[in-house]
Amino acid sequence: MALAFLVDIFEAGQSGKISEDISQTVFKDVFSEFVESFHHVCGLGSSPASSPPIPYSFQLKRTNANLSQDKPTSRRFALMICNSLSLGLEEDMQRLVMNLIREAVPGHLCGFESIYLPAFSYLGLMLKDREYGIQNSSIAKLVRSILTTRIADYAKAEPVPSDDWKRRKVRCTCKDCSDLNTFLRDSTQHVWRLAASQRRRLHVQNQLCSRVEHYNIETERYESPHTMVVTKNKVRYFELHKSWVARCNVVKKELQGLDQDFLRLCFGEKYDAVVSVNMDVILPAHKELVDGVQALAEKDPPSRVPSPISKRKVSASAKLPGKSPEKAQF
Ligand SMILES: [Zn+2]
Repeated sequence: MALAFLVDIFEAGQSGKISEDISQTVFKDVFSEFVESFHHVCGLGSSPASSPPIPYSFQLKRTNANLSQDKPTSRRFALMICNSLSLGLEEDMQRLVMNLIREAVPGHLCGFESIYLPAFSYLGLMLKDREYGIQNSSIAKLVRSILTTRIADYAKAEPVPSDDWKRRKVRCTCKDCSDLNTFLRDSTQHVWRLAASQRRRLHVQNQLCSRVEHYNIETERYESPHTMVVTKNKVRYFELHKSWVARCNVVKKELQGLDQDFLRLCFGEKYDAVVSVNMDVILPAHKELVDGVQALAEKDPPSRVPSPISKRKVSASAKLPGKSPEKAQF
């Protein structure tokens, strides 16, 4: 509700329906109160934005990601940010961004698909049109924080092959399975042989066939009885890696849908690493951001008590933030 009011009152001033001075005064006061009483990004819109986050496993299967986007709310959110930038309300914006970053807890990023992704898309286009410098602004910090949280949460670190060959035991405790378990729990041995009757070999094979870990099972028929050869393999690692590559492609596609100049301004020298989903750069940068927010939160705990609306005098010449030559930092 407040979001729609903020956008409408600003537009009324721009279009001449009401005095621009009054429009900006009201915008500043309501925006200040909005920031003070802000609770949660998912509370900005109605359904589907306020719905619980969709599980990532399901997101991967969906073919149309736009279905969950709350475009009207996202557009208003982007407009509110642009309007506050045009009025030079960096202090209030910093507090809003701090609240948003605080609630974007790793593992529980709410409103990414419904609000943030479409809002960042609108913001990129709006800020390009208005030529605001945002490299060192709190908006750039919000974009860096939300996108790195999304990438870190969703794509996660690249799986690495383990040198440890240890596997879970089978349940059966017969003599053959006990020998098998000794092999399975050995962290260095990866090949095991059992020369036995077909019945015993099949019994052992049945113990292994339903395991998550994968084994190659062959039969050597040179002598009687034949020998069963069990080899631990790394198929599980390749499956995990394939799934990781698929998740990386999902976030790459999301980033490709945003204005690239906007992302370049927000991420500075780390732009290439971010859009190529280089986790060696993204994960430490994301940790640095989270640590920084936690340190700030300890110094300045969030206040949920709305302060009285102050009646501030508005300058007719709204101050625009200038472009800075400094590089954007995480
Ligand atoms: Zn057994």
